[in-house]
Amino acid sequence: MVRRRFLLALSMAVLLGCSPATGLHHERIYVFGTLVDVSLWGVTEKQGRQAVADLDRAFQSQHFEWHAWKPGALTDLNAAIARGEPGRATPHLVRLIEISKRLSAQSDDLFNPALGHLIRLWGFHNDELPAGAPPARGEIEAWLARRPRMADVSVEGEWVRSSNPAVMLDFGAIAKGYAVDLAIERLRALGIRNALVNAGGGMTAMGRHDDRPWRVGVRHPQGKGILAALELHDGESVHTSGNYERYGEHEGIRYGHIIDPRTGYPGREIVSATVIHDDGSVADAAATALVLAGLADWQRIASQMGVKRAMLVDEGGTVHMPPEMAERVHFTGESPPVEMSPQL
Ligand code: ADP
Ligand code: MG
Repeated sequence: MVRRRFLLALSMAVLLGCSPATGLHHERIYVFGTLVDVSLWGVTEKQGRQAVADLDRAFQSQHFEWHAWKPGALTDLNAAIARGEPGRATPHLVRLIEISKRLSAQSDDLFNPALGHLIRLWGFHNDELPAGAPPARGEIEAWLARRPRMADVSVEGEWVRSSNPAVMLDFGAIAKGYAVDLAIERLRALGIRNALVNAGGGMTAMGRHDDRPWRVGVRHPQGKGILAALELHDGESVHTSGNYERYGEHEGIRYGHIIDPRTGYPGREIVSATVIHDDGSVADAAATALVLAGLADWQRIASQMGVKRAMLVDEGGTVHMPPEMAERVHFTGESPPVEMSPQL
């Protein structure tokens, strides 16, 4: 009897020794000009390290595949479009174009990734932030007159054509949402069930963190730490866009990197927009579009884009959101003024 108990205890010790502890694995990857935070729950140290190394490889190759100005698949395609010729696209670029065509149409072209030349004019096709004067009015007007938009672009198999050579694709407003969703799919294929991938202001969650949903922070648009904490359910993404992080400054005026395709100038009225959606690409693109839609139009644009949960912060610091968003948002510091909107 004693011997049997001893053997049982011994085999249990061996079992425990063989199964290394599982818990939270956290690592950072530098890619897309930002730090991507990867948190995995319920994995061993070894599984965690292998999964993050796998993601790192995928991210680094995507970085050059769809970079807007560094030589790669997208700059080759843009060069063909500028010459008025069809260009070959990779499968990811084909997907990005197709999704963008739909989201551009739904956003009344406020989300318009055909505006690469305008972004370049404003000096944002650069690792350094723009320092000089804004573009000359004439240059902006010339761009407006040519009206490049996603409806000019068509895809047939791997071939992309544009009826308008002024189109220059720039997926800066959607690529992070798309890439983070791909990362989550990759982790799922590796057998991981609980993860949060956060690419500087945009993230997607899978499963849970221990026995509760993943809890994430939304940065304060006026640079005062965290505005609110949010609970993200399995498969959901949240993206925040704003003119507070990447902007140029000239003679005391700030020029943000979200440009209004109707005027050619950066949007002003909305400081930041946050969107929760089951599809990361939609959340990312919609956050950008809602910054431009402004207080008068954001609810209409959100519902056209299939968005139910969104939150806007205006220049005065007032938060605008429907009840479906409010039930997820927990303000961390002093509560800002809130204007509740009807259901989207
Ligand atoms: P972040 O990169 O800070 O997450 P966004 O998702 O809003 O912010 O993306 C901003 C980027 O998208 C800009 O740097 C530019 O490349 C591109 N962009 C700017 N304005 C628009 C627009 N109206 N439609 C589509 N893309 C845009
Ligand atoms: Mg965006």
